[in-house]
Amino acid sequence: MSIEREVVARSSYAAIELYAPDRRPCAIDVSDNTNLWGAPPSVARAFEQSASASVTRYPELYAGSLKQALADYVGVSVEQVVTGCGSDDVLDSTLRAFADAGDTVAIPDPSFAAVPIFARMNSLTPALVPLTNTYDVDAERMLEANARIIYLCSPNNPTGTALSRAAIEAIVERAPGLVIIDEAYVEFSGGSVADLLSRSDRVLITRTMSKAFGLAGLRIGYAAGAPALVREVEKSRGPYKVNAIAERAAVSALREDMPWVRAKVEAAVENRERFIAALRELGLDTLPSQANFVLVPVPQAMRAASELRSRGVAVRPFERLTAAPGTALASTGGDALRITIGPWDVLSTVLGALSEVLSCRV
Ligand code: PMP
Repeated sequence: MSIEREVVARSSYAAIELYAPDRRPCAIDVSDNTNLWGAPPSVARAFEQSASASVTRYPELYAGSLKQALADYVGVSVEQVVTGCGSDDVLDSTLRAFADAGDTVAIPDPSFAAVPIFARMNSLTPALVPLTNTYDVDAERMLEANARIIYLCSPNNPTGTALSRAAIEAIVERAPGLVIIDEAYVEFSGGSVADLLSRSDRVLITRTMSKAFGLAGLRIGYAAGAPALVREVEKSRGPYKVNAIAERAAVSALREDMPWVRAKVEAAVENRERFIAALRELGLDTLPSQANFVLVPVPQAMRAASELRSRGVAVRPFERLTAAPGTALASTGGDALRITIGPWDVLSTVLGALSEVLSCRV
């Protein structure tokens, strides 16, 4: 039997490419901003105790135990928390819940690359608004987009820079609709804006256990906001998105491993500053980072990344990022390498490889 009619995907998918960055294994991988110190200690025990019996039945519908542990961690009530299969899932569900097909989502540029993709997958139109020459969000231009949803990311990926409190507040005060504030890297920064939750019912703060908590493989993301917002996100997300073993391990990390998490965050912040100083000695500028990674403007970033890979070091290259005139990022045509901060022996190898690659160019 031959089938001749073509099965066609949603029209809005035609221009969307499969998200597939280079994830080939590499001796040293500083490409994805995960916790290079490993996973929190109680997680291995939680796996052992997850008797196979716990996988024969469905997990909790909406991860109630995890929501309670996260609510305690963030300092909100359990009705203000929604979880998901990574914060990717929470962001995607949120866009779907709060905008109709054809609506606009305002997104700073550059920022987390998955968000415009999630917008388009949900038939929404991303409006990209360049960051200012201090890598801050341009509040006026974001508001001018008159978007149904405004997405902000602080500290911002891939720049590592924190947005100013003043710009965030101006946006929250005047936004016509929902404001998502992505705090995936907040633990490494000077502070959260989660206090805005008590002033506005239009703010949703998304976070993840993939970075400071070292649990990227378990795919645990969450958001905090007004109960009415959270309910809609949960509806859009659907049941059973956090698996039973991941939920148990995540609760264990939140309840038992906070001293470990804090110690690794402290080490990351210390090593970040030391790494930035060492890069400066190599003649490389970095953007001021509040995250567990740094963005290093480098010309011909793709070529530099492949030369580093051939020396056993995987970094994340970016080509032609949008950059305000006069910035370090503009000086390389927007090309840059994003490097995750980890233990010093890892960073020292990265520095060695970088200095080889860059000295070959002179
Ligand atoms: N937000 C930002 C800013 C990120 O950088 C990432 C991961 N790269 C995510 C969200 C998604 O993280 P996850 O799905 O692992 O929670």
